[in-house]
Amino acid sequence: MPIPRTADIVVAGSGIVGLALAWRLARSGFKIVALDAGPAGGKISAATFAWINGTSKTENEAYHRLNRAGVDAYEKLARQIGAAAIGLAGNGSLHWAGPENPRLLDRMRDQGQILRRWGYAADPVDAPAMRRLAPGLAVPDGAEGLFASLDRWIAVPRLLDWLKAQLAERGAILRENCAIKAVERSPNGEIRAAITAEGVIPCKHLVIAAGTATPDIVQMATGRGGFPVEELAGLLVETPAVPVASGFDMVLWSPDEAGFHLRLTSGSGLLLGADDIDAQIRADASEASLASGRAALIERALGWMPELRKVDLGRGASHRIGRRAIPADGHSILGPLKDTPGAYVAVTHSGVTLALAIAELLAEEITTGTAPAALSPFRPERFGF
Ligand SMILES: Cc1cc2nc3c(=O)[nH]c(=O)nc-3n(C[C@H](O)[C@H](O)[C@H](O)COP(=O)(O)OP(=O)(O)OC[C@H]3O[C@@H](n4cnc5c(N)ncnc54)[C@H](O)[C@@H]3O)c2cc1C
Repeated sequence: MPIPRTADIVVAGSGIVGLALAWRLARSGFKIVALDAGPAGGKISAATFAWINGTSKTENEAYHRLNRAGVDAYEKLARQIGAAAIGLAGNGSLHWAGPENPRLLDRMRDQGQILRRWGYAADPVDAPAMRRLAPGLAVPDGAEGLFASLDRWIAVPRLLDWLKAQLAERGAILRENCAIKAVERSPNGEIRAAITAEGVIPCKHLVIAAGTATPDIVQMATGRGGFPVEELAGLLVETPAVPVASGFDMVLWSPDEAGFHLRLTSGSGLLLGADDIDAQIRADASEASLASGRAALIERALGWMPELRKVDLGRGASHRIGRRAIPADGHSILGPLKDTPGAYVAVTHSGVTLALAIAELLAEEITTGTAPAALSPFRPERFGF
């Protein structure tokens, strides 16, 4: 198929953030061309834990509220078309710690207080309640937990398939294996065209949602390097289907430095990760380090769910390494690039939680020319872009 001759908006990058933006902008009536350097579906978005939550964001209220908007956007869409259609699953998340960890218990209580003050459901729960909420979890007597009933997880490929189908239905064009190579601007800096190896696509707007490659495309659009996004690798282990206790579908997260986390997958297996193992493989990416990281994750899962010792949990398990795009201050960078009228950027960590909210807010800005207040703390201009 020949390269499209024109577009209102070219979206550079078709991971979860780019596809959600393309869908939302197509819904507003724009003629959209979404590009991806590889297959659509993203790089980071193909290796993510995909916990949809506002629970882990307590250090900054505006960022928590942005994430909350993401959580709410999924619930709204699920009410309209059904959770299964987009792969939305899970019935909350649970942080928990045993009585031997008073410091962690204090930290968790503080986290709960902050979340409740901000109106996010985060209830303290005791050991018997946790055993009911997460059947199969070995909770010691005296343990305390924090239950966040709004949190979910999502089967990202299912959501992406739904978004792609929506794009096709609305006449938007998705071009895979078609990287942006350069950006053409008018003498006064306005976006004129996206240039690919297959041809030039004249456009009025360029939305850059290219994950870890965002700085490269920002440089093409603005001529300026140093856009502040870093890569941070993380390891995930996925097991084949396992016989978890009936009724278990909770995201579990340890509140300590290890940050071990676990959830079901759409294939009825477990997905495992941990902050300390991520740090280990960043420091040492050798096969031996990966193998020990994998083994540690499996062992921790067995510690939490001892019933699974009946099966060989590590057998047939696979692993993947994802590379998060982390803005310099940890928070999303969303909005227009200065001195480059028509160019917008959308790069973030927690992009699974945030994709639908970012799409909604940026589409409003591009459509009306006025930025919603929720975006003001997250503008590229805070980094001079
Ligand atoms: C291990 C791990 C665990 C995570 N856990 C969570 C979690 O629990 N909850 C959560 O909310 N988030 C989580 N995240 C973060 C989340 O997955 C990401 O924020 C999100 O997937 C980013 O999506 P994206 O569309 O911005 O980037 P990507 O998915 O990387 O998509 C960007 C796309 O841009 C394309 N591209 C690059 N260069 C070009 C070019 N020149 N032209 C055209 N296209 C180009 C790439 O090919 C890619 O497909 C996790 C991430 C990792 C790595």
